[in-house]
Amino acid sequence: MIIVMKTSATPEDIQTVINKVEKMGVKSHLSEGKEKTIIGLVGNVVSISESQVQNFEGVEKVLRVSKPFKLASREFKPEKTEVKVNGVSFGQKKIILIAGPCAVESREQILETAIRVKEAGASILRGGAFKPRTSPYSFQGLKEKGLEFLAEAKEKSGLSIITEVMSPEQVPLVGEVADILQIGARNMQNYALLEAAGKSPKPVLLKRGMMATLEELLMAAEYILSNGNSKVILCERGIRTFEKYTRNTLDMSAVPLLTKLSHLPVCLDPSHAAGVRDLVLPLSKAAVAAGVDGLIIEVHPNPEKALSDGAQSLNFDEFSTLVDKLKPVAEAVDRKV
Ligand code: PEP
Ligand code: MN
Repeated sequence: MIIVMKTSATPEDIQTVINKVEKMGVKSHLSEGKEKTIIGLVGNVVSISESQVQNFEGVEKVLRVSKPFKLASREFKPEKTEVKVNGVSFGQKKIILIAGPCAVESREQILETAIRVKEAGASILRGGAFKPRTSPYSFQGLKEKGLEFLAEAKEKSGLSIITEVMSPEQVPLVGEVADILQIGARNMQNYALLEAAGKSPKPVLLKRGMMATLEELLMAAEYILSNGNSKVILCERGIRTFEKYTRNTLDMSAVPLLTKLSHLPVCLDPSHAAGVRDLVLPLSKAAVAAGVDGLIIEVHPNPEKALSDGAQSLNFDEFSTLVDKLKPVAEAVDRKV
């Protein structure tokens, strides 16, 4: 249920409405937009009658939200959410570029990558320290040591860091270094992890599960939001289909759809969608044209030698070329990279 307040409603009116509805046993979330103040109610709202709430001082109208996701919906918050990460902001005109290796492999590798992707125009450095691998025999990441190297890369380059967190217990540790917690496709429905990330003060990039519908992605976001963390960035990274030429099938319609359904910023990962490096540029161009707020791209100093996802990783020159080629596309849709 959402309560739209009159523009003439005073802060006292708003607080009184919040107190009254919370007494009725539901949780409220306040969204103060430029034009409208909305109070979103979640929990057992069926027991609340619209007409009763309608009579509270300062209330313009009361609406029921038909979609299962509430806090993530545009009905709850009509204005786009801006997620700020140090000096950069997802959900503004500038499309934020996140780049770096699939996994942190060594101190030298991550330090060099940080400097080079920054020079090319990236604002955030990616690199997995804890890696969710399909095979238990594959490289699992440098773990704590990887986090240490990321912290050094952050200090030396000034770039913000995004890195994956795989379990609720890891959230505090990863959060010491990460400016954004990455929740990977395999963990999109790890509800204990979503709840822990919801209690963290750090922004969260939530990747779409490889077999998840957009509604399931938004419901996963709802877990984070309803636990108190409003800084969620959604990320399309391809879904599994019968097509074999790509690692996943990029669902480009996710970009305008998520933007329509939700106020949360939308990011896209062309690397994991494609699985092959020559598709990364065309998919990135399409994503920019479709309206993404950010791109997360795998870049490695020597992709042939990468310990994971080398086939889809770009080298530094390829990444730099990609950034240049995205500029006119961004301009054509009134954005910039
Ligand atoms: C990654 O970003 O390295 C990763 C494992 O991606 P995904 O969770 O989308 O598979
Ligand atoms: Mn990867």
